[in-house]
Amino acid sequence: MDTIAANLEQVNERIQTACDKAGRDPEEITLVAVSKTKPTSDILEALDCGQLHFGENRPKELQQKMEELNDHNDIIWHMIGPLQTNSIKYMTDRVNWIESIPKQKSLREIEKRASRIDRVIDTLIQVNISGENQKQGCEADDLAEILEYAAGLEHVRVRGLMGIATFADDPEDVRPEFANLRNQLEKHKKYESDNVKMEHLSMGMTHDLEVAIEEGATIVRVGSAIFGPRNYN
Ligand SMILES: *Cc1c(COP(=O)(O)O)cnc(C)c1O
Repeated sequence: MDTIAANLEQVNERIQTACDKAGRDPEEITLVAVSKTKPTSDILEALDCGQLHFGENRPKELQQKMEELNDHNDIIWHMIGPLQTNSIKYMTDRVNWIESIPKQKSLREIEKRASRIDRVIDTLIQVNISGENQKQGCEADDLAEILEYAAGLEHVRVRGLMGIATFADDPEDVRPEFANLRNQLEKHKKYESDNVKMEHLSMGMTHDLEVAIEEGATIVRVGSAIFGPRNYN
């Protein structure tokens, strides 16, 4: 068996084992294969194994890959990286999920562009759970205002929250960060509307997906365990 196929099988087994331990159904978990820095041939190899969700963290790289793989309508593309308002135009034609919404203004820009082409784009609001001042994602205190704003939109839907935990040698150390994100999801259910659902939690990567699943992740974003190590992020 070639590497990507074998790796995917292993990652799916890890998800299964974590679900067994947590008493959850693996059907509840979406695996996003993070293909950043990797060639589209790797994406096609994973696609051949039935992997449908792919994640990229750079707008231009995402745009290029979406164009190159234009014939593959079955691919579900996720933007997971830092989002500048002026880079949103590179993705709205095709992207299915934008997981890394940091602020209201991003939603406004997506609404504007998606409405012109009559698309509806699913999003998650990224919350800074690591406490690091890397300034990715909003603060939990900003969520209410963002969700109230999103309730009035028609071409961009909010489906939940996304977070990136601190890197720790022992993934147990970041369990409180995942638990915090889940608490924020619960706490903000009162802001649900037709257009805003607090149903998804995107958290957990190669290193810490088990802990994330135990803490309620419904989307895990896994790169190196599937495609191998990267030279840069
Ligand atoms: C790169 C990246 C991942 C995947 O990281 P791995 O450790 O390789 O699994 C997940 N989420 C985000 C936001 C990323 O940028």
